[in-house]
Order: sequence, then C-alpha cells, then structure tokens
Amino acid sequence: MHVIYGGTFDPVHHGHLRLALEISDRLGVGVVSLVPCHIPPHRGQTGASSDQRLDMLRLAVSGEPQLQIDDRELAREGASYTADTLRQLRSELGPDEPLVMVVGTDAFASFDRWREWQAIPDLAHVVVVRRPGPALDPTGKPAQLLAERAVTGLEALHCRPCGAFLELDPPLLDISATGIRERIRDGRSPRYLVPDPVWWEIRRQGLYGACPDGNF
Ligand code: ATP
Repeated sequence: MHVIYGGTFDPVHHGHLRLALEISDRLGVGVVSLVPCHIPPHRGQTGASSDQRLDMLRLAVSGEPQLQIDDRELAREGASYTADTLRQLRSELGPDEPLVMVVGTDAFASFDRWREWQAIPDLAHVVVVRRPGPALDPTGKPAQLLAERAVTGLEALHCRPCGAFLELDPPLLDISATGIRERIRDGRSPRYLVPDPVWWEIRRQGLYGACPDGNF
C-alpha cells in the first residue's frame, strides 16, 4: 500500500507530522509520503517559495523513517493537480497496488472543484481526516461521494487498489500554518508548533516576516 499526504506545508508543522505518523500506524504502512504542492490551484501566493517549503519539509522529517518526501509536484511545470499526481503514481505502482490519498475535511470540502475530481476514485482510495471546524455540507457533492463510497474498516483499503472512502478521526493537534504565519508576522514565537530546525530555517531566511536577528 502506498500512502500520500499532500499539502502546501507553508510551513510544515507538528499538526501535519503527527497526523502523518498516526496514519502510518493506523494503516499499518511503513512509510507515508508527504507531497508538497507547487502552485496550489485553489490558493493565492504562498508565504515561502517551493524550494523553501521543500527545505523546511526536509528538515522536519530528517531522521524519521516513517515519513518521506515526494517532490514530484515541485518538479512539474505549472499548477499541481492531484489527479495528475495519482495517475503518475498509479502507472508506477501498477494496477493492483492500493494507493491512498489522505486529506483533511477542510481540503475535502472543495473536492468537487478539484480538476478531474471524478477520476480520483478510479485511481486511489481517499482517507478523509475529520478536522475541527465546519462539518461538510451534507447536500454537497463531497459529502455525497463520501457517503456513497464509505467503508468502515481499514481492510477495504488493503483488498482493492482504489475507490473506497474512509473517514478517520485521529487525535489532532490544533495547529494551522495560517496561525503560524500570523504569529511570526506579529513578532510572536511559533516555537513548539513547528520542529526547531524549521523555526531556525524560518528565522535564518527571514520567512513570513521573521526577524533573522530576533532573540526568541
Ligand atoms: P493553512 O493554514 O495555510 O491552510 P494548513 O495548516 O491547513 O495550512 P495545509 O498545508 O494547507 O496546512 O494542509 C495540508 C493537509 O494537512 C490538509 O489536508 C489539511 O487538512 C491537513 N492539516 C493541516 N493542519 C492539520 C492539523 N493540525 N492536523 C491534521 N491535519 C492537518
């Protein structure tokens, strides 16, 4: 089974990293691939460049064998589309290997606006992680798809290559990259929300308005 967890990671924080380890444990896979997106089609300009986000991810997962980085979206020209990434992975893995995409409810809420979203269930399973905040609109297409294709057990993910939707409710840390960027902009420390090497890199590069010589 191959598991990917995509995001902007602007910057990567302990909420992302803990979730990736929880998923790895729950799905019983040795490795989860973190897939930073290049130019997020549904978002504005990122606070750090693709290279800077990738550098921070590398620092964050260094020495952790359960987490690896797949930088294929950064290597592609133009926008990152999940369907393209999954199609590429499917051709590498072959038709039978289970492929799982992990996504939070906040991101899944706009699933029906992703490019070629209807093709995604034919390429991968989708694990939707419940995050605090507004529930999915029950009349919306993402909620309907989730209901139609829902499986309750993890076995369903292991015994076929794609097409199942599983909701998981793992313990989550209440951390967001937006909150971290705001904190830094306001001159407050984000320490213990991000790995120390990530914070040092943010300061070294003066990202998100951080003061390189600040003494916190
Ligand atoms: P932003 O605040 O900039 O929107 P974010 O912290 O939500 O960023 P993203 O890179 O946008 O992070 O998220 C990537 C994925 O990680 C999404 O599926 C999102 O739901 C999930 N995610 C983000 N923060 C957490 C968290 N604290 N715990 C678990 N999952 C998270």
